Amino acid sequence: MIIGGFQTTTLLDYPGKVACTIFTAACNMRCPFCQNSDLITGSFETRYSEEEVLAYLSKRKGLLDGVCITGGEPTLQKDLAEFICKIKDLGLLVKLDSNGLNPDIIKMLYSGNLIDMVAMDIKSGPSTYGVACGIKDIDMDKIKESIDFLITSGIDYEFRTTLVKGIHRLEDMEEITSLIKGAKAYFLQSYKESDKILGLVDGNKEASTYSSFSRNELEEFLDIAKKVVPSAMLRGVD
Ligand code: SF4
Repeated sequence: MIIGGFQTTTLLDYPGKVACTIFTAACNMRCPFCQNSDLITGSFETRYSEEEVLAYLSKRKGLLDGVCITGGEPTLQKDLAEFICKIKDLGLLVKLDSNGLNPDIIKMLYSGNLIDMVAMDIKSGPSTYGVACGIKDIDMDKIKESIDFLITSGIDYEFRTTLVKGIHRLEDMEEITSLIKGAKAYFLQSYKESDKILGLVDGNKEASTYSSFSRNELEEFLDIAKKVVPSAMLRGVD
């Protein structure tokens, strides 16, 4: 496991739980609006060993409900299953954050009772997915396989989309929700402007034009989303 960040307590990352968050390095997408560019480029400041993370979890066992494993893209870590086994041995719940490009890994973790919840990013509708995730020939079949698995498997899950002015248009919302029809939990989040986003690090000129939608604009997206996914909500919007 390459762990490039460790947040010792969070009440936000695992819904309804007191958790800590482990940030793994590397990703198979290159979303230009990615806020964790240091994890993607490998320029993160501190590398945490598995041993120190597990020792901390062991010490806080009675106080924590679970662990959120995020990234980067955690399913790229070769020893993810073994690592999660050690977390499970401590009696903790595990939530996996994923971009959905590795459905086989998600299925394997689920069938091994290693994950209790998955949060999957839906980057955009199929016609603009490649732009939003920075991979022109993105394999939409993999994305759809992950979505279908989450909706039908019985695992606790949520989908979420970070909306970025400069990437997303209102008309994308219909396409996005057509991907996740029937979803029980879907959150629209607002892009937060930062000079550390991956597009700027990558020298993508368009990234300098990105900005946040206003609350009213986000509510327009939400109205469209709710027509197909009634559970849709805004999250983290002032
Ligand atoms: S935002 Fe995109 S590039 Fe960044 S970690 Fe998530 S999937 Fe990877």
